[in-house]
Amino acid sequence: MKLVEDSLTHWLAAADELDAFDVALALPAADDGERAVLARVRLLLLAGRPQEALVLLSRLHITHLPTGPATSWPDLLLAACRAASGDPGAYRWLLSAVAALPDAWQLLYLVGAAAEQCGDYGTADQAWTSLVRAHGVVTGFTLARHIGAVVARRDQRSAATVAQAMIDVVEQVVAADPDVHTHPQVFRSAAGYLRRRGDQAGAALLLHTASNRLPDARGLPAAPRRRKLLDLTHIPLLAPAASLAVWTDWPPLVLTGAVPVLLVHRLAAGPEGDAALRAVARLRQGPAARGLTTENRIVGAILLAILLTGAVPVASVLARSVTGRADAIARTALHAVVSGVAYAIIMAMLTAVAAALMAVARRHNWRSERHRRQQADRHRLTDAGDCRCWRSSALAGSYAAAYLERHLVSPTPVGWLPGARLARCPTTGTLWLATAATETSEVMLLRGAGQPAPAPAPGGYL
Ligand SMILES: [Zn+2]
Repeated sequence: MKLVEDSLTHWLAAADELDAFDVALALPAADDGERAVLARVRLLLLAGRPQEALVLLSRLHITHLPTGPATSWPDLLLAACRAASGDPGAYRWLLSAVAALPDAWQLLYLVGAAAEQCGDYGTADQAWTSLVRAHGVVTGFTLARHIGAVVARRDQRSAATVAQAMIDVVEQVVAADPDVHTHPQVFRSAAGYLRRRGDQAGAALLLHTASNRLPDARGLPAAPRRRKLLDLTHIPLLAPAASLAVWTDWPPLVLTGAVPVLLVHRLAAGPEGDAALRAVARLRQGPAARGLTTENRIVGAILLAILLTGAVPVASVLARSVTGRADAIARTALHAVVSGVAYAIIMAMLTAVAAALMAVARRHNWRSERHRRQQADRHRLTDAGDCRCWRSSALAGSYAAAYLERHLVSPTPVGWLPGARLARCPTTGTLWLATAATETSEVMLLRGAGQPAPAPAPGGYL
């Protein structure tokens, strides 16, 4: 048990390194000295419980902010907890104290938590973004807030720019976190951050983009259905125009059918948020799917016009073979109506063939993406059986699960933390605590103390 007691401080530091505040708070306290209490105060603040933090500070008689320029860590903690509880004076004090210490990244956590909890999201965004971008502190906690900040500041000039911003931010996370395909918690946290600041549209857009990009991920809302090139609902709108084109013997007249199709589109388009949702739906076709350029659209429209026009004489010939009479009937209403029906059948068949081809391409794209990812995962986890207990203090995700299974031995459940297990390194004897993140089931490994090392012999080079 001595080793467990010695490990408590290490586990706390390791959980803190992963920003797993709930796990850190659930660990038994190693001691009740001032340092340990202040560490707990900080964790309570970051976990969104500043009132409890203030109670602990008052037990240490830390209740007044100094008036002079001198600042200490307990004063900064007190100011941050008060600011998070809604004290504007303490918030001003905190920001002016931090302004005098610009390079201390640990203070960005205090500013971020205090600003977020008192509703000053502009400042909170700066603190979280600075931690991720300038200081390289990338954890699930900081990354979710950083991408929430990016989404909140999206350029809303057009649906296309919004959609591109969403795709870029999701790709950034996919590149940073190899486990996001199975554990997309970071997107749910970012959506929560956006909802708390009242940006419901941003939260919905982010979740929809993520679910389109990560079709295998559980816990994301179902992706919207992708719009087909020529929807089946458009065909009845085009058929009367085809009848008219046959009746007047002028096939290009079928293009007047595009007017009701475009009107229906316009009516169904809704607000800009919906347009951006449909724009990101192109990701359903595969992770490499990119937006269409103006040239692509023009070429596509010309090809579609040729197809729509060319099908009119074909439908007319088919109608003639059904009605059984030759040229005399060419301009009668009956012939035009039968041609319209034949035209609708031809279009429905072409649409079905196009949809089937798109589905085959989509399945192929996703299958190759999954294959590439599995290969990359295998490569990433090849060294999970080798001892890295001498250089890693905390591990999370699939690498932690593989390390627990392949390297650590004799896992035993612990009574004081539900679901947690203790495991040992067979090489160094280091005691690891295996637990799971509170909101996901992702494995988290926290390094504890090792076997006491023999003292180096005197007179050696060390
Ligand atoms: Zn080891």
